[in-house]
Amino acid sequence: MIVYISGVAHNEEVISVTLWKDISDPKGMKLKMFFCPNCKFGVIQYKGAIASIMPGAIPHDLPLIARCASCKTKYLFVTIL
Ligand SMILES: [Zn+2]
Repeated sequence: MIVYISGVAHNEEVISVTLWKDISDPKGMKLKMFFCPNCKFGVIQYKGAIASIMPGAIPHDLPLIARCASCKTKYLFVTIL
């Protein structure tokens, strides 16, 4: 799977996590913890609501990639509105 980071292609196996606006938090003030679906380890804090989690990369200009410290799975976070 090719992921573009700052215009440079990286070959990474990732799981894409799509975030969108949390309607109960219109100002985006709440930070939530994303727990790895594989091992339940806390990976990263995020704002918004999770719209989808799927294997493979979504093309994005500013991808945020976080790796689970426990099982090493990489997650690509993409915010959509
Ligand atoms: Zn994990």
